[in-house]
Amino acid sequence: TDVLTRDVVIVGAGAAGLTAANELRKAGLSVAVLEARDRVGGRLHTDVIDGAMLEVGGQWVSPDQEALIETLEDLGLETYSRYREGDSVYINADGELTRFTGEIFPVPEATEKVIVELIERLDRMVAEIDPDRPWEHPDAEELDRISFERWLADQTDDVEARDNIALFIAGAMLTKPPHAFSTLQALLMAASAGSFSHLVDADFILDKRVVGGLQQVPLLLAERLGADVFLDQPVRRIEWTGGGVTVASDRMTVRARFVILALAPVLYPRISFSPPLPRLQHQMHQHISMGFVIKVHAVYDRPFWREQGLSATAFSPYELCHEAYDNTNHGDERGTLVGFVSDRLADDVFCLSAEERKGRILESLSHYYGPDAKNPVVYYESDWGTEEWTRGAYAASFDLGGLARYGADQREPVGPIHFACSDMAGLGYQHVDGAIRMGRLVATRIVEEARG
Ligand code: FAD
Repeated sequence: TDVLTRDVVIVGAGAAGLTAANELRKAGLSVAVLEARDRVGGRLHTDVIDGAMLEVGGQWVSPDQEALIETLEDLGLETYSRYREGDSVYINADGELTRFTGEIFPVPEATEKVIVELIERLDRMVAEIDPDRPWEHPDAEELDRISFERWLADQTDDVEARDNIALFIAGAMLTKPPHAFSTLQALLMAASAGSFSHLVDADFILDKRVVGGLQQVPLLLAERLGADVFLDQPVRRIEWTGGGVTVASDRMTVRARFVILALAPVLYPRISFSPPLPRLQHQMHQHISMGFVIKVHAVYDRPFWREQGLSATAFSPYELCHEAYDNTNHGDERGTLVGFVSDRLADDVFCLSAEERKGRILESLSHYYGPDAKNPVVYYESDWGTEEWTRGAYAASFDLGGLARYGADQREPVGPIHFACSDMAGLGYQHVDGAIRMGRLVATRIVEEARG
């Protein structure tokens, strides 16, 4: 086996790891990036399936994501807006469809009033949270011991208002049921995007896409690193002392002063550490878990919904696909819809045969767009739960009480071992923007230490 020597070895060639590697290089340090898969990008992957270009993982860019926007500019990548002309659609608990414009769902007047009040209340609470340090909020312990479902139930008896507010954080973001995460975790999710109102505004949160796909970010970052990126190298062992690390995959070994673990935190236990990581990390990492969502892609010979005056923006807490959008590629004549099936519903449809699952999902899309939705020319389900090197989607969050208890320790290095991932970001949490921010942060810290 080859033995390389570098200043820093980076485990994982996702947006976080590749950002860190480039920043370290710019500061004059030598790097090697070891990636388990046969490609770079991690949760960013643009694939061609039955002739259709699909963004299987992350794709959208919102205006608050400054670190990502800077990176796009630096790499010379162009963006385009999601199609949003025409009416949105909402389906209520009785299965009734209503067309609407604007952000607030067409619900009975009293329910609308409750929804608006809840959004205002949540905006005020979110404004008090520092997304980089939610655990420092004076009520952090209290907010972290009560589930978001419970908190909502304490605010109002209006079930439809609760179901809608829960959807913005649960099904749509953390991709866990609202009983499975705390109110503090919900506030962090909103604070990481600037406000709760931002999460409600699909035109804000799902604003732009990158021409050619968002995976170009990691692809171009890796190109700059050239031969220092090593594919098919799942890291199995890390030996560490105060003075450095030896990082081994099946086929190569790298000795370095520092290592950055730039992988989803749920995967740390896949690596054997010698000596073992300290007690605190052993415990903390067991309180972090991945959410789960299926991203469904359906391509049609034309964007038929536009002929009906629909934007394709669709929501319902009562549908299998709780949200769906026009996802037609830049310059493409064909029309693409993207829909999402989250947490418990995703588990349920994975108990069915592939054919039955497809039938159920297309049936749900047809509730929003009519029977034409049942006949796509290309159909594909992104299932990150089966991916050995990811194990869920979109990202990881703490269980009840975990954020207040361990949050402050997540990004703290252990000797020469540093951590970076979108799943531990403040601003941009669970998004590519957060991965880039964490990559930059860890590089800055290592450069300081290396010079120190
Ligand atoms: P990852 O991308 O997970 O990278 C970690 C890398 O480490 C991977 O390449 C993995 O293979 C590698 N690895 C793991 N274990 C080892 C090991 N032992 N040895 C070597 N390598 C290892 N974000 C947005 O901003 N906008 C969106 O629209 C959006 N939509 C999403 C849709 C889906 C379906 C998914 C899954 C995610 C989405 N996200 C979105 C989230 C975004 O993709 C992630 O937050 C971000 O890409 C994570 O980057 P990362 O570098 O932190 O981690």
